[in-house]
Amino acid sequence: MSNHLYDALLAHRTDDDRLLLELGDGAGWTYRDTISLAGRMASVLVAHGARPGDRVTVQVQKSPEALALYFACIRAGLALNPLNTAYTSAEVQYFVGDAEPAIVICDSQRAGELGAIAGRHGATALTLDADGSGSLTDRAAEADQLTPVDRSASDLAGILYTSGTTGRSKGAMLSHDNLLSNALSLVEGWQFSPDDVLLHALPIFHTHGLFVAVNITLAAGGSMIFLPGFDADEMVRFLPRATSMMGVPTFYTRLLAQPGFTGELVEHMRLFVSGSAPLLAETHVEFAERTGQRILERYGMTETNMITSNPYHGERRAGTVGLALPRVEIRVADPDTGDEVAPGDIGVVEVKGPNVFGGYWRMPEKTAEEFRPDGFFITGDLGQIDDAGYLQIIGRGKDLIISGGLNVYPKEVEAEIDAIDGVMESAVIGVPHPDFGEGVVAVVVPQPGAPLDEATVIDALTHRLARFKQPKRVLFTGKLPRNTMGKVQKNTLRDEHMDILETSR
Ligand code: AMP
Repeated sequence: MSNHLYDALLAHRTDDDRLLLELGDGAGWTYRDTISLAGRMASVLVAHGARPGDRVTVQVQKSPEALALYFACIRAGLALNPLNTAYTSAEVQYFVGDAEPAIVICDSQRAGELGAIAGRHGATALTLDADGSGSLTDRAAEADQLTPVDRSASDLAGILYTSGTTGRSKGAMLSHDNLLSNALSLVEGWQFSPDDVLLHALPIFHTHGLFVAVNITLAAGGSMIFLPGFDADEMVRFLPRATSMMGVPTFYTRLLAQPGFTGELVEHMRLFVSGSAPLLAETHVEFAERTGQRILERYGMTETNMITSNPYHGERRAGTVGLALPRVEIRVADPDTGDEVAPGDIGVVEVKGPNVFGGYWRMPEKTAEEFRPDGFFITGDLGQIDDAGYLQIIGRGKDLIISGGLNVYPKEVEAEIDAIDGVMESAVIGVPHPDFGEGVVAVVVPQPGAPLDEATVIDALTHRLARFKQPKRVLFTGKLPRNTMGKVQKNTLRDEHMDILETSR
């Protein structure tokens, strides 16, 4: 009997009394406790009719029990389907209809609505609350350990829905080996060891907090300080006990704004990792000035796990996402033809390797569209690779603006705007323009109290950018719309400002 992921990450730790999780209130969970609960939860899932290969849709708050549920699914050969806790019932209805899970697990407060959705789709509903209580843990308390179910490298371990900023959200099918191969590469690349204590404040419904952070910790045999979410005061409280931290860029900007966040506080830390959204070069520099440490930026996506990383030893280049991970191939291609572009040119980033998912759940046509015939997955991100092999992400392909037939890369315009005195950050979008098809619009967040207006920004750009790249309008806001993973929601901005250039000529 063998279970590819479970055997590598958990099977040999069932009697391990070392700490796996330390909670904010000082409570701790050992490997033994967590895996034992997972073994009993696995029995509960099976007793409720889940068979190997079935999906388990989960919308619950982060907790040790929610993490044990992930382990339980792996142990029982089920595909975990975690959902963002912010999704409404109507959204959950779509995911349940699409994933067709055997079991739906939700917070007891939403058991009425979600239980009805589960019922309509022939699934059983169980509950799990933020404090660990609920019908799942009640039943697990009385259950026996389930013998791990046989699973091969290519069997499904999870289905994670993409954020679906255009069109319907798609379920990325991730296999046992997609997850394991990536975790092993990262343990080596980032030098994780049993001595590591990872400060974990990310959500566990997304690949970053769930697979990157958790699987690396398990593969290395380390532990995590497991916080329910990001709170700058809590981070400052726990950083002295951690060796490493993973975060989205907003974690870093918020830490830098925190008075207690000093170089001394993190002197002992060996690694800060950033990903899921672009880290501003300015944040990288400010962080290095404050702490003497360089944030290690990496790049990946739900469908591919991690693709590139700046080196642990060696140069961490601000504004780049580093080099391809071992056994991962990347190339930059012409989006239309798929031909590789000349070195240094911009094109769409494509990737191949054991980390890349098997396809979108029940969407064979969509899957076929996003793979090249030679097996490379088309990420949809635009990028360029420099002479030393470092990849720079220029933005999402769908954010590219075509104004009067000319390509405008929002990131280039944003970088010029961000360099203007008094600008904190900016987002550049394309909206319909009667003459040019699309016109450039900038949404700018000024630094507090900075005397910025539209004319100042436009004047500052006159000699810095070709005319077709200059914004036709500059709007000001206190804050850019971001999702939980720190990504700027450009489609929200586009919707909001759709008509702003309608009368332009
Ligand atoms: P997700 O599937 O939610 O993880 O989103 C993946 C997308 O996040 C990628 O396709 C990129 O557009 C973006 N992303 C992830 N990491 C980075 C990074 N370090 N720099 C820029 N964009 C990133």
